[in-house]
Amino acid sequence: MTDTKSRTAMVTGASRGIGAAVAERLASDGFNVIANYAGSEKAAAAVVDKIEAAGGKAITAKADVSDAEAVRRMFDAAETAFGGVDVLVNNAGIMKLAKIADSDNALFDAHIAVNLKGTFNTLREAAGRLRNGGAIVNLSTSVVGTKLETYGVYTATKAAIETLTGILSKELRGRNITVNAIAPGPTATDLFLDGKPPELIDRFAKMVPLERLGEPRDIANAVSFLAGPDGAWINGQTLRANGGLV
Ligand code: NAP
Repeated sequence: MTDTKSRTAMVTGASRGIGAAVAERLASDGFNVIANYAGSEKAAAAVVDKIEAAGGKAITAKADVSDAEAVRRMFDAAETAFGGVDVLVNNAGIMKLAKIADSDNALFDAHIAVNLKGTFNTLREAAGRLRNGGAIVNLSTSVVGTKLETYGVYTATKAAIETLTGILSKELRGRNITVNAIAPGPTATDLFLDGKPPELIDRFAKMVPLERLGEPRDIANAVSFLAGPDGAWINGQTLRANGGLV
């Protein structure tokens, strides 16, 4: 089915957590959605089913974002299905924590591959292919501000993403495409919760002046703002969505 009239949003890592909430929110805003995933095929299909049950349009797209060729094919599939892409949300990411002294080569290389090269791959493709008037939202982290121990390699990739955000916003001059980043604080997803004891989770929640963890929909609301008409004048910025943590 080809539909060139309505607007289309590609959300990387849309099978779970923040990405799934973003996909559902953008679909309810009226976007056709490309729900990307790497391994969680059933979960991505469930997100698409939920969107369609609510009257929206969505397809799944399997692609490891660290693979430039797979990213190119995902944009091809989006254009075939919906005629073009207007919004890119670079949400796919991994986080493994270790002090710098204990970070091995595999940990370093995996973060660079998925978080940094993965974001670069989709940004490069989007820079050439996003329709004029569109928007790009990249996911950073508030740890760029808090600088917590053990978050070194992960946060370094996110700091680089904030830099790419600002520079691409300038390189897209004349296209009416905004490029922004959202830097969540601790948000209740697998990525944050896995492996943490309840006391530690509670301590993270209490660090936030609003005294709770972020929910995926809190971040999806912020993405919706930046991707939609109300965010049209925000460009080249990083928005820390974290309940006031930093
Ligand atoms: P999550 O629950 O672990 O979900 C990660 C998503 O990324 C999944 O859909 C996963 O797909 C996808 N993904 C992982 N590697 C991929 C790859 N190589 N190619 C394509 N997709 C890939 O994570 P989350 O908490 O929602 O985090 C989403 C984003 O927010 C990340 O960039 C993260 O750094 C950022 N963030 C999160 C928090 C937090 O506290 N949760 C705070 C700050 C920033 P599969 O399931 O198919 O593997």
